[in-house]
Amino acid sequence: MTTPSFKSSVVDSEPSASEKCDPPELQKLLVESFGFAAFRPYQQAVCETVVAGHDALLVMPTGAGKSLCYQLPGIARGGMTLVVSPLIALMEDQAEKLRQQGFRAERIHSGRSRTDSNEVCRRYLRGELDFLFIAPERLAVPGFPEMLARRKPALVAVDEAHCISHWGHDFRPEYRLLGERLPLLRPTPVVAMTATATRLVQDDIVTLLRLADARRFIHGFRRTNIAIEIVETPPAVRNELVAELLTDSTRRPAIVYAPTRAKADELGQLLAAALPAASYHAGMSPKLRDEVQAGFLSGKLQAIVATIAFGMGIDKPDVRTVIHTALPATLEGYYQEIGRVGRDGEMSRAILLHSYADRRLHEFFMGKDYPESHVLSDVFKKLPTDFEAREQLRKRCGLQEDEFDAALEKLWIHGGAQLDADDRVRAGDAAWIEPYETQRKHKAEQLDLMFGFVQSHHCRMRGLVAHFGDESDDGRPCGLCDVCAPGQTVAGQTRELSTRERHALRAVLDTLSERGNATAGQLHADCGESLGFSRREFERVLDALACADLIALSEESFTKDGRLIRFRRAKLTAKGRDVDAAQLDEVRVSSLMDKPGKRREPRQEKAVRRARQAKTEAGIGVNGPVYDALREWRLLEAKRHRTPAFHVFSDRTLMELAAAQPSGMDDLLLIRGIGPSKASKYGEAVLRIIRKTTSGVG
Ligand code: ADP
Ligand code: MG
Repeated sequence: MTTPSFKSSVVDSEPSASEKCDPPELQKLLVESFGFAAFRPYQQAVCETVVAGHDALLVMPTGAGKSLCYQLPGIARGGMTLVVSPLIALMEDQAEKLRQQGFRAERIHSGRSRTDSNEVCRRYLRGELDFLFIAPERLAVPGFPEMLARRKPALVAVDEAHCISHWGHDFRPEYRLLGERLPLLRPTPVVAMTATATRLVQDDIVTLLRLADARRFIHGFRRTNIAIEIVETPPAVRNELVAELLTDSTRRPAIVYAPTRAKADELGQLLAAALPAASYHAGMSPKLRDEVQAGFLSGKLQAIVATIAFGMGIDKPDVRTVIHTALPATLEGYYQEIGRVGRDGEMSRAILLHSYADRRLHEFFMGKDYPESHVLSDVFKKLPTDFEAREQLRKRCGLQEDEFDAALEKLWIHGGAQLDADDRVRAGDAAWIEPYETQRKHKAEQLDLMFGFVQSHHCRMRGLVAHFGDESDDGRPCGLCDVCAPGQTVAGQTRELSTRERHALRAVLDTLSERGNATAGQLHADCGESLGFSRREFERVLDALACADLIALSEESFTKDGRLIRFRRAKLTAKGRDVDAAQLDEVRVSSLMDKPGKRREPRQEKAVRRARQAKTEAGIGVNGPVYDALREWRLLEAKRHRTPAFHVFSDRTLMELAAAQPSGMDDLLLIRGIGPSKASKYGEAVLRIIRKTTSGVG
């Protein structure tokens, strides 16, 4: 394919008005230069905005086609487009694709030689490039941003822009440099894009990148072919229920998400007895994982039970069902995971099993990972002014290892402690407390949002779409979920009411017709307690009434000790006001929670056992040459970057690396503690070490 002639003829980066494309020309470029027949939804509007020189923030789901929204305007503006991207593999992939389309695309990152990078800079300055991909940390290299400024690009694109916000799930401090260095490249327009940004993260992106006037395009989060079903289910019966659901072949292929590797294996084995199924997680050998993944993609395996690591690179169009066997930690994560069904547009189902036990477990881990401020304060007060060995300090603090590590890590992140490469510690800045408390509160709020979501009696899809702030959405109910279409659910099971439940139900209706409305707590006190209902049993009666459309439940909240407390308020519906006996007979209540569970362990014990289990799982690789080699490398790396060793990788991550021995970037991303940023920074080195050590060379 030949390079469109106008590209090389442009010398100044700021195109004159005549060079800017009008809509028909954009269409032509789309077809002739990019080979696409038509724009996908919203692409054209974004392209027109950016071509006209406006800044833009783009939040659209994965696969929506965000890349085109900088590629086409960049070409249309007739200069070079600078693309900031967090991941080497991503840069390589996109640059290669662009080259295949006939564009001149280059990249500068840590994986390339100095000679190559210098040559790319020269070509950039000579105006010989259409696209230049760089990693954000390049902007910290002295002279590099100034070099870019000598020939201003026609467009700057910031991919995965959520990385700039520490509210996002993959915060990268290097992205913060962008805000400082972008002004050098102005007035060039900037387009920032991401698939995952709540309103808070969107605002962060706009503030930190200084895009005050950016047009926001928040679109495409509504999926019209996913029926979401949320079912309160005791932990002990979840595996059986999943097995039962998946015996129906129309519900396959299926991805089942399990909370731990052990649980993934357990359920995988159960399913495998009845259908072609396997488990998939980072604790398995890379070879086995490849086999499982290939088996699933080819259709040989019809169900896969995975930890959330699975599916990042998976694009299998015909997945019919996603089942979560435990409550996810964030709505963003949940949305990404259910997004893997029905890519072919056919009707699909997302089933989430949860119960109060999940909530308690999340709260327990939240308390462990984010200790209360006074725990950090106690450690902070004991921090010496001169560096002291970490272990010695721990003993002086009198804390358990886990507790101490969590507190110290958080202090370090927020500047309250300094660590050197030899793992010694000294006091930092006392101003850590405010940012820490803000972060802790944010984490708690994310959990609260998840809890609120499963408890809500509103359309599930609408709830998700609203969470992402999709502006084009009309807010209509989906008509498919367990709230919109309770008659069409497949996982929930119901039974007739018991006599006691009938009494309670009658009492609730009477109370509400007297008072108009009441909170769930008041109703429990007035209509449930005397009949011997626990609060949770009673909530199920309220749910049954709401499902039968006799009462409406709304969520309300108040703040107590800085934390949002949610509660439900009930009022009669029109149908509930003049309900007759026959209608009352039709009310059914969820029966899944009736099933006697296995002997219940007290909740704390269980959580501790799980934590220990996770630890031993991770411990597989401790004694071995790979682990030793990785530790040695980590120490050098930490020294080189003057950063504490655990910030390079935690011991646990090294253990998992040694156990799983990943062979490629994708596998690396399955390891706990390795996200795109770490993979891009250290991935190549780690893979090299593993390769070397396992093959016995060097
Ligand atoms: P995102 O970054 O939003 O996840 P990409 O930009 O990687 O998505 O695009 C996803 C896929 O869609 C790519 O294979 C891309 O080539 C394709 N694509 C983008 N725009 C169009 C279009 N207008 N018509 C057909 N395919 C498109
Ligand atoms: Mg993308």
